[in-house]
Order: sequence, then C-alpha cells, then structure tokens
Amino acid sequence: MDTKFIFVTGGVVSSLGKGISASSLGLLLKKHGLKVFMQKFDPYLNIDPGTMSPYQHGEVFVTEDGTETDLDLGHYERFIDENLTRESSVTSGRIYKHVLDKERKGDYLGSTIQVIPHITDEIKRRIKLAETKSNADVIITEIGGTVGDIESLPFIEAIRQFRIERGYDNVLFIHNTLVPYLKSSEELKTKPTQHSVKELQSYGIQPDVIILRSEKKVNDAQKSKISMFCNIAKEAVFEALDQRIIYEIITSLYNQGFDKYVLKRMNFEEKYQKDISLEDFKELIKNIKNLKKELNIAIVGKYVELHDAYISITESLKHSGYKYDSKINISWINSENINEDNVKENLEVCDGVVIPGGFGVRGTEGKLAAIKYCRENDKPLLGICFGFQLALIEYAKNVLHIEGANSTELDENCKNNIIDYLPQQYKGIDLGGTMRLGAYDCVLNKESLSYSLYEKDQISERHRHRYEFNNKYLDLFKNDPNFIVAGVNPQTNLLEIFELKNKKYFVCCQFHPEFKSRPLRSHPLFNGLIKSCLEKKYE
Ligand code: GLN
Repeated sequence: MDTKFIFVTGGVVSSLGKGISASSLGLLLKKHGLKVFMQKFDPYLNIDPGTMSPYQHGEVFVTEDGTETDLDLGHYERFIDENLTRESSVTSGRIYKHVLDKERKGDYLGSTIQVIPHITDEIKRRIKLAETKSNADVIITEIGGTVGDIESLPFIEAIRQFRIERGYDNVLFIHNTLVPYLKSSEELKTKPTQHSVKELQSYGIQPDVIILRSEKKVNDAQKSKISMFCNIAKEAVFEALDQRIIYEIITSLYNQGFDKYVLKRMNFEEKYQKDISLEDFKELIKNIKNLKKELNIAIVGKYVELHDAYISITESLKHSGYKYDSKINISWINSENINEDNVKENLEVCDGVVIPGGFGVRGTEGKLAAIKYCRENDKPLLGICFGFQLALIEYAKNVLHIEGANSTELDENCKNNIIDYLPQQYKGIDLGGTMRLGAYDCVLNKESLSYSLYEKDQISERHRHRYEFNNKYLDLFKNDPNFIVAGVNPQTNLLEIFELKNKKYFVCCQFHPEFKSRPLRSHPLFNGLIKSCLEKKYE
C-alpha cells in the first residue's frame, strides 16, 4: 500500500488554528486504524527553535529522541498520542544548511546551486525521510506561515512537485482560511478566501479541501460561492467554528464528514470504518463543560507575558484538572516581580504552585522566594527542571546551611556548586554535550510519593537542560531526614526527582513531565499536584 501524504497550508492570516485542524484529522485517521505521522515545516532560517526566545516563539517542545521543536509538535502529540521524531521538525534553516554544507563538500560537482531544484529537492527528501522512518500509512505535513509569504514559497513549490511524483491520489492539499465577520453589515466575507486560493493556484496548487475558520456559521450559499470561485466541490468545504473547547474541533469536523471525504478523495475508502468511536473525546468535552471544582495554580516564571511559553505546562494542568473534575485557573506570576517581602500576598491566594524550566540569572531570586514560601507554608509545589535545581539550592542554603550553595549557571565562582556542569560522556552515557535532551530512564524509590503516583518503578521522561545535581553533595542531602531521593537515572545515578517528607506535595523533577501529558492520559506528577491542592481546599 502506498503511503498517503496530506499537506496543510494556511491563508489570509496566521494563527488560524491549522495545527489544530491538522491534528484533529490525524486523530480521526488514527481512529480509522491508520498509522499516522505528523510533520511541521517552518519557514524561518533558524536551524531549530532551540535558541529562539520564548517571548517570540513560545515554548520549545522536546520529542523523545531529543529534538527541540516548534510548540505545534506538542499539539500534534497531544492529539494523535504518537511520539514524533526529528523527522517531524524541519526549518528552512536546516534545509539550507544541509544544501550549503553539501555544496562546500563539493557534492554538487560544480553545478550552480539554486532554490529550484536543490532546495526543493532537499525539502522533498525530508518528506520521504519521514515516510521511511515512520513507516506510517499517512503523513500529515503542516506548512508554517501564510500562503503568499516569500519565505514559504520553496515549500509550496516542493509539495506541488511532490504530487506529480507520487501521483494524484496519494497526495492531498488542505487549505485553511479565515472567513471574517463584519459587524456593521452583519456579514461573513468570503473574498479573502477567494484571494488566498487564487494565490495558491498561481503556484500551481489546487486545494482539494478548504477549511474555513469563522466565528459564525458559514451558510450554504457562502459555501457554494467558495466552491465556485475556488474551483472546489462544495462537499470539500468544511468549517472550523471558534470553539470554547479545542477538542470540539474534532467532533465538529467529524460531524461534517471531514475524515470520510479525505479518505474518499485519496482513494483510501477501504480504510473508512463507519463506526469509529469518538466517545472518549465526547465524554471529555462533556466533562470539561461541567467541571464542579476550581483551583488557582500559580506559574512563577520569567516569560509569563507570553502564555505560549508554558503551553505544555498549562495543558498538563488542565488535563489533570479534567481528571479530578476541576477547572484550573492560572495565576501568571512574573518571577522578576516577587521577593521575600511580597511573595506571601502573591501566593497565599493560590492553591498550588509550579516553578517551570528556565535559563539564566534573571528572575531566580523570585523563584527562590516562591520555593521557600511553599516549603515553609506547605503550599503544594511542582518544580520542573530549573525549578528542581532552584529548589535544591533553596534547600541547601536554608535547611542544610551549605554556605554559598548555588548553580554554576548562576555563579561560576560560587563556593558550593551543587548544580554543576558535567562532561559529555559521563559514566559511559552520552549526556549530549551542551544539553541533555530527550528521553532518559529513571528508577523510582518505592517509598516515594512519585512511585505511588506513577504506579511503577521504572519510568522514562524527557529532558532539556545543561546542568545536573552534583552527586558530591548527595550524602549531605540524604542525611537530612525529610529529603527523599525519589528518582535516579540508573546509568549515571544522577538525581532526577526529589521530594520532601511531611508535606502535602513538594515534588521536583529534573525532567519535563509536561511533554508527556495527554488529554485522556494526564501525567502522574501533575495529577499528584492537583489532587493535593484539592485535598487541601475541599477536605
Ligand atoms: N537552566 C537549567 C539548565 O540549563 C535548566 C534548564 C531548564 O529548565 N530547561 O540546566
């Protein structure tokens, strides 16, 4: 059976939610029994989003295999619940770098290197790489940016060529557009869609399916108009209304027969199963609409102005909230604005606290003050990555009285660098050189709360950090009766989770649990936090 390829583009404006509609399609196709893989092409010239400011780009999502990717990959994984890989994330920067490196090596034997065919060939190679590596039945590739942007043109050209190579039935183009509503005339406007499709057609691409993002229902006459002007069957025009709950996009597209149409259009009808069950998501949506309890959770971080910088964390909190029938309100607390004097008034009103990952000195004092407040006032706390490292520093300073305890990242000349840099090869395992990235094993202590939450003794979680707890200090911590070594990496003995005894919830982990939480399978460590907050508030 041939692999099928679906390319998803967007027109008119950015932030249309094409990632969500692409993920919804992925989920529906998976429910039809297909093996689905997803891929994102980003037109910017960075090699990957790893070095981009969270203020500009939002969170960096990390895959199992340690690729630093665009946050859209997080949506994909949360929706289709499949682990993606380095083949899933391709930027123009990566494409150009590969081509230019080859040119320097003389691999092109003196020919002139051009966007067409060299860049476009490299883009097509990445699609084929995803095909061979994933072994999927369907590959859904989202093209970032908006049709008409200069920088996304090579991608558009490459997918045009790709259809010719692979055959008409094996490739499908889905175009997402916006249908704006004009209040004064009380009308939905289809013209921007017409223009955007015209633009796509001028590049030689005729979309097979159009998804209309709209705040009001698109009526039949408007769909007919779009069908006629965009040269597309009316039954291929779908709408994605603004939804309060993102999972409603899945059921809405399903109710419109979107998956059925896509499978038919790709001659994949034998794969169409009438009775796929969406009960799980329907149940979830119903549940979300009727949440009985409510919690305020503070996220104390440096990039709080842009909520996208912590999107996997807020999603994880919500997932665990659903599990325990609770609506989660997030209090965004800028760590640069808090200190020992005002921390109480900021955190007192919150039921629980998350200290997320972060880099650099700025804002660390506020995070340390928040951690101290949680420890002294038994406020449920989940410390993640940098949050874990700072919680160790706070404990070392204020409880164990280790003078000048700090991280090498924050003070190279500190007296006791309890968080320190380790060589790339450490006890025979590769820590990634500059950054420990991707999934690593962790063995849980059977006496720990973490063990009772995970309900197993061996777990695997994703990392993204440069510094580690310095085991030289482990005994000092272990000798403290309230300190629990809850999880360690079995190969290196590096500390991965610690907890404090006699607290409602004080759990800190070196990894990022937020990358593995799913709407229907919330994460044990977030579950633990939410459950403790509820016990404290309601019982
Ligand atoms: N800055 C810390 C380190 O590099 C933590 C990184 C993070 O929180 N993702 O080790």
